[in-house]
Amino acid sequence: MDEGIRLVVRAAEFAARAHCRHRRKDVDQTPYINHLAHVAHLLAEAGCDANLIAAGYLHDTIEDVRVSYETLVENFGEDIAGLVRDVTDDKSQRWQRRKQAQIEHATAASPRVAALKLADKISNLYSLRDTPPHGWDAAEIRKYIEWAHQVVTRLPSPNPVLLADYQTIRGELIERLGG
Ligand code: ZN
Repeated sequence: MDEGIRLVVRAAEFAARAHCRHRRKDVDQTPYINHLAHVAHLLAEAGCDANLIAAGYLHDTIEDVRVSYETLVENFGEDIAGLVRDVTDDKSQRWQRRKQAQIEHATAASPRVAALKLADKISNLYSLRDTPPHGWDAAEIRKYIEWAHQVVTRLPSPNPVLLADYQTIRGELIERLGG
């Protein structure tokens, strides 16, 4: 059996456990693992390596469900733990500051971190189209699209498959909102 497949399956199981009570903010409260599986799937379709696909499953474990960096190192090694840490917002900062920091840090992202950030944004845009957060109006959705674009356009050498995915879903979403 391919080691990469075993690793990705192990990351999927770890993420499912860690996020078991975690839901998206849409009316149906979609299980959070759907977002993680989507990010991993986007990375796989874009030809990314197994560690990066595993990090797709794990990318919100530090930020959202308090898994420590050390636990990730123990279970998955420094490469994967480092990828997750590099896409983790500093939660000691206020929301506005965290969002601004993502824009500022985008230019320094390595190609693999850039791919992970991009896949995350793509998945969030799909969610905004198909299962938007409960209570969000068009203005709030537009604000997210605009912020995501500021991050994405600063990412150095983004993966071309992911960039095409991003442009497609962004275009569809803007069209749906009426241009
Ligand atoms: Zn995410």
